[in-house]
Order: sequence, then C-alpha cells, then structure tokens
Amino acid sequence: MISDGERIILIDEEGRRYLVQAAQKKLHTKFGVVDLAETIGKEPGARIKSHLGKDFVLLRPAIVDYLHKLHRVPQIMLPKDAGQIVAHTGVGPGSRVVDAGAGSGALAIFLGNLVRPTGWVISYEVREDFAKIAEENIRMAGLDDIVKVKNKDIYQSIDETGLDLITLDLPQPELVLPHAQQALKPGGYLAVFTPCVEHLQRLYREFGKFSFTNISTIECLVREIEVRANCTRPSTRMIAHTGYLTFARRL
Ligand code: SAH
Repeated sequence: MISDGERIILIDEEGRRYLVQAAQKKLHTKFGVVDLAETIGKEPGARIKSHLGKDFVLLRPAIVDYLHKLHRVPQIMLPKDAGQIVAHTGVGPGSRVVDAGAGSGALAIFLGNLVRPTGWVISYEVREDFAKIAEENIRMAGLDDIVKVKNKDIYQSIDETGLDLITLDLPQPELVLPHAQQALKPGGYLAVFTPCVEHLQRLYREFGKFSFTNISTIECLVREIEVRANCTRPSTRMIAHTGYLTFARRL
C-alpha cells in the first residue's frame, strides 16, 4: 500500500513517466490534473483518473525510473555502458566499490542498487556543487545508506582498501593507477570509461608500471529495432559513440 510521502511513478496513456510523491498535491499533465492525494492507500498497479477522465497507472519506482529522472549536471554514464561493467567485473551484492567522479551520481546509484544490502559505494567528486547534486540524487533513489559521496580529488589518494571494484569516469584515470593498486584487493577489478583514444593511450602507457592483468578495452554500440506491422528494422539514428570501457584485474 502506498503511504503518505512515498515516491511513486505515474504512467500516462502514452507511456510517459512522472516521478512524484504521494501527497496533498496536484500533478498537471497534458492529460489533465491528477490529485496525488488519491494515490495514498492504493496498491501498485491501481489506476487513477485525471480531471479529464484519463487513466494513470500507479507504480513503485524501479531504479531505472530514478536514473531516468536524475538531476543531471555533467554527462551521465548510459545504461549500455554501466551494464558492461557488471558483465565484466561481476559486481554484485556485498561488493565494496570506489567510484570517481560522482558527477550526477548515475553510475554510483546503478552500482549501489547492485551491491546492497551488505556492500557499499564511495563516490569521489572534486567539485563541491556536483557532490551536493549527486548526494540529492542518491537520497531520492533511497540509496543514501549504501552510497556515500566524498568531496575529494581522487588523484591525491584513495582512503579505502580491500576493494572489489574501482570505476573511473574522469579526465586523467592514469593518475589513479598507483592508488588503485593499493586500494584494490588482489583479484579486484578496475573499470575505466574514457571518451577518446588519446586517453586510452595514456592509460595503457601507465598500466605497464603496475600489477594489472587481463587488460581489455571495448566499445559498446546498441541499435534499437523499430518493430512495425509491415516494416521491422533498425532505427535510422543511434548513439554512435559515448566512450571506451577498459577493464583490468589487480594481481
Ligand atoms: N559517472 C558519472 C559522471 C562523471 S562526469 C555519472 O554517471 O553520473 C566526471 C566527473 O568527474 C565530474 O563531475 C568531475 O567534476 C569529476 N572529477 C574530475 N576530476 C576529478 C578528480 N580528480 N577527483 C574526483 N572527481 C573528479
């Protein structure tokens, strides 16, 4: 049953998602005004009618709803890339993770959802304003007991040790390698997101100085398929490039 103040998702007749709170408030949409007080006490799956008689389906938010509605400051890591990190590192319940930079906290939230209830994520962010926004996003996603933001330059050092995974999405990941070597447990993974080949070259030059193995780099391309009655085919447009993902394992 939905309680007063709980975060909910309402889905309109065109599939549009509204992330709101069940409270004494009104939601104005192109399908009319929804009285959010009506959602209190209802079960997920219930239908609420707007003042125009249009249906809205009430749901509890999934992590993907929070990620979709984040307050975004820098570019966030997209699900296609975040998903590869799981596939290549096996991060899961109980994992201890350091992430940098936090940015809007999208990757940190994605990872926090996977490592709970016993694991944790510490996300380093050098900019105080971004650290605050990331913290707000993490709180909205209900993960503030699992994911913490640290307002710190990760190029200086990593405070935590015995880590299962370090994820890096910042301009000079090669400067983090000495700290990563110290902070990862033997067999722990490093996952680095870099937009340009030049970043990769700098990173690979530094790898040789440290004890990492199974180093590999991939690019993840996703094509959406448009399914229609008489013409099913890949969509004309796609996101051609976001970045390269490099994985390595500490010996
Ligand atoms: N992965 C994030 C986006 C990261 S954008 C997400 O999914 O939302 C890169 C972030 O790294 C920026 O916010 C930037 O301020 C931060 N950053 C850059 N250098 C840093 C450093 N040395 N230590 C910590 N954060 C840093």
